[in-house]
Amino acid sequence: MPRDPAEALSEKRRELEAELAALAPPRQERGVQPQFGKRAGDHIAESADLMVRAQAATALRQLLVEVEAALARLRQGEYGRCEVCGGEIGAARLEAVPWAGRCISCAEARRR
Ligand SMILES: [Zn+2]
Repeated sequence: MPRDPAEALSEKRRELEAELAALAPPRQERGVQPQFGKRAGDHIAESADLMVRAQAATALRQLLVEVEAALARLRQGEYGRCEVCGGEIGAARLEAVPWAGRCISCAEARRR
């Protein structure tokens, strides 16, 4: 039985927001507490960690935009229509990727 896309999308949005919140370090706490016993490499490791977090956050935000767009299409009755060719995205694809904005052939054409 296919899931209600509105429900699936809202759930995904909550999930992404929670992940983003978890990724964002509490800024005000950073640097306030001095940490002793740090090795020379720790600073580099920390910078690398911040970079990984920033990249992950960017990917999550991008996905969040897609989820929001899908919710908007749902409200406008445009959900399930490919934004490129106007064709049906297809139930199986929407089931797997409820926020898909393109049908499988347009999505693949873009990747090439
Ligand atoms: Zn298409």
